[in-house]
Amino acid sequence: MALKILSSCINCDMCEPECPNQAISLGEHVFEIDPTRCTECVGHYDAPTCVAVCPIDVVKPDPLYRESLDALAEKFIQLTTLSDANDK
Ligand code: SF4
Repeated sequence: MALKILSSCINCDMCEPECPNQAISLGEHVFEIDPTRCTECVGHYDAPTCVAVCPIDVVKPDPLYRESLDALAEKFIQLTTLSDANDK
């Protein structure tokens, strides 16, 4: 399942540079997570790194994007393949 940043985010910018999938960007009001790029850090880390660095605990599971571990791993592979192709 992709994660989402709640509207109580204080825009401290701790999470954006830590995301291994470039899934986090500044939205209209607060930072946002692109669900098409969030793998919950599957393929990179044992746990979501944005959750670990958020000082006020506002990164939560997004109920609109429920995905199995296999689906997250497949997304990781697709993102990595795309990234490799763009590097060539
Ligand atoms: Fe990025 Fe990982 Fe947070 Fe998803 S869980 S937004 S991949 S840092």
